[in-house]
Amino acid sequence: MPDRTAQLIACHDCDLLQRDIQLNPGCYASCPRCGAVLYRNATDSVDRTLAYTLAAAMVFLGANVFPIFSIEVQGDRSAITLFEAVLSLWDQEMRTISLLVFLTAMVAPAVELLSLTYLLLPLKLGKVPPSYPLFMRVLQFIEPWCMVEVLMLGVLVSLVKLTNNFRVIPGMALWSFAVLTLLLAAAAASFNARDVWAQLDAAWQGQGEP
Ligand SMILES: [Zn+2]
Repeated sequence: MPDRTAQLIACHDCDLLQRDIQLNPGCYASCPRCGAVLYRNATDSVDRTLAYTLAAAMVFLGANVFPIFSIEVQGDRSAITLFEAVLSLWDQEMRTISLLVFLTAMVAPAVELLSLTYLLLPLKLGKVPPSYPLFMRVLQFIEPWCMVEVLMLGVLVSLVKLTNNFRVIPGMALWSFAVLTLLLAAAAASFNARDVWAQLDAAWQGQGEP
């Protein structure tokens, strides 16, 4: 006998309407028509996402403070950080590229990491962060703009080209960006928006809807 009080949900891929049922931990529900995964019951998704986020935040700081690489010309070595590279691009009239690098490799990851921490840390401590629906939407909006991996590829291609003419020494920030790429992917993969919405709503109602 179907549960008539269960919510209806639509499949993201084929729009088939179906009832939202409770799942056992570790299980997932799939669409009977197209086979797409509808949702999962990953019990530790908040813990795992928070752990990856905090680790990524520390690595992100290192990636912005330390130089990406140094170039040695006739014994003189000059190092450059990501922000200095952005300013240098701006000064050389490559303003669109400068803005793109600044937004996709600095602003977007910072907003993503801050939003995740703002939402998940209080939730972990049993509290509800104020205006959480707004931050959930910010997170959804900003995630596609976070392109640290594209920056990594660009820097690697430039490094290979530069090694023909100069002695190039990879900096701490380059390794930090490589680790950050993996940590951001891990945080995005373990983040379960459906569970976080449900837990935030439950905590909010538990607080008496302030
Ligand atoms: Zn479907």
